[in-house]
Amino acid sequence: MRVSNLYRDGRTIISMEFFPPRNEDAEKNFGPLIEKLSALKPDYMTMTFGAGGSTRDGSYRSVKEIMIEKKQPAAAYLTGYGLGPEEITAVLDKYKELGVETIFVIRGDRPKGEDFTPHPESFSYASELIAFIKKRYDFTLGCAGYPEGHIEAESPAKDIEYLKRKVDKGAEYIVTQYFYDNRYFFDYVAKCRNIGITAPIIPGIMPVYTVKLTQMLSRVCGSAITDELQNRLDAADPEDKDAVLNLGIDFACEQCRGLLKEGVPGLHFYTMNRSKSTSEIISRLRAENLL
Ligand code: FAD
Repeated sequence: MRVSNLYRDGRTIISMEFFPPRNEDAEKNFGPLIEKLSALKPDYMTMTFGAGGSTRDGSYRSVKEIMIEKKQPAAAYLTGYGLGPEEITAVLDKYKELGVETIFVIRGDRPKGEDFTPHPESFSYASELIAFIKKRYDFTLGCAGYPEGHIEAESPAKDIEYLKRKVDKGAEYIVTQYFYDNRYFFDYVAKCRNIGITAPIIPGIMPVYTVKLTQMLSRVCGSAITDELQNRLDAADPEDKDAVLNLGIDFACEQCRGLLKEGVPGLHFYTMNRSKSTSEIISRLRAENLL
């Protein structure tokens, strides 16, 4: 499954992101989770990859489970941080053998607080890794974009210049970091188009799952909790898990309606390995004939 072909279809493409299960319980729940979300017939599923190769085996096993056991189209992620060219090649050879055709290429970050020595020939930026893969493999490649600017970027304009470099080196589609105000996304797309990036740009959707998780992720990723969202969070009891989850579903549905109205090529759901929010959002949008 080549993701770039899907985005040429003219339909709204639905993708769902997962991470490899982190313990035995999560392992047991992973199959049923994929089955539940498969029932919504997403166009493809994706599997993250821990920086420094920390989830190398788990990511591979999970991609295999999604593709071979659950028969779902899948794209694998590859994070270059810390890995040398030979390790990268070994990972890619295994994915190729498995039949993976699309690799989403990201740089990754230094694992926090861990004693990890990067390979001396590790790639500094995703663009370098994309160029390396493009020269050696026939994968369709994707890359990440940041509507609010990447947290370490010299400037938002420079960040978009570097995004263009990733596309020029071979990335055929862009999936964005999540955001809680669609204007960030629309402005970003306009700026990307202005400097000549023509690749499809797919918005990432991160429903609020819990208040704590939203706060933590926003600190790490730099995606602002907007006043509008904060006001709604303030009005909810953070201990009332269902209320917070439902607030997140309502908010994400509103965001998706606005995005769909502007004709986005797809919606990419950060499921955080949970099924309820993504299922409910997609079901509601379908019931409204928006998908
Ligand atoms: P890059 O494109 O290399 O950019 C990193 C920073 O360097 C940016 O600030 C950019 O402006 C700057 N830069 C780029 N090129 C240059 C240059 N030539 N000179 C100077 N500065 C430059 N992380 C994981 O560990 N595993 C995952 O599976 C994962 N999946 C993700 C999926 C999505 C959709 C997104 C949006 C992010 C994901 N991340 C993941 C997070 C990602 O690894 C981090 O955001 C990381 O800090 C940047 O990765 P990148 O590929 O965007 O890096």
